Amino acid sequence: MESREAADDGLVVLKREDGEAFVVVTRPFAAGTVIRRFSAEQTLAAPTWLTVQTGPDQHIQLSPSHLRRINHSCEPNVFFDTDELAIIALREIAVGDELTFFYPSTEWDMAQPFVCGCGTKSCLGTIRGARHIEAQQLDRFKLNSHVKRMLAAPANS
Ligand SMILES: [Zn+2]
Repeated sequence: MESREAADDGLVVLKREDGEAFVVVTRPFAAGTVIRRFSAEQTLAAPTWLTVQTGPDQHIQLSPSHLRRINHSCEPNVFFDTDELAIIALREIAVGDELTFFYPSTEWDMAQPFVCGCGTKSCLGTIRGARHIEAQQLDRFKLNSHVKRMLAAPANS
């Protein structure tokens, strides 16, 4: 089971009543620390709803697989650093907290846009990838280098 696999890295997969999976931590993590390293089980040229983008035409299926259950939030507490292949705590994370990341910090143009239900004050609504977000709204987020490069490319301005 995924929750068993996850147990020794401090991450556990749980399910909401509606069946949606999410990941919580079983130990605290200080801001700025590496929570978990990851690798690519497979690398694809196009995104799917489960991939994480690591370059302009590069999308990976995360390994270990329970990391794919980390959901989006418009006020995330972790960052998927696709250069370092590490999940970093953006702030202090307490036992039982759900891990969330900002999908547009890795995703340029998502395969499956969705209406965000994060419920935070600063929720951006429909999430489609960084390409579809105003620059001033992206300012407050930590973004990966490939996303910054794509934002700066003249073809996308
Ligand atoms: Zn939101």
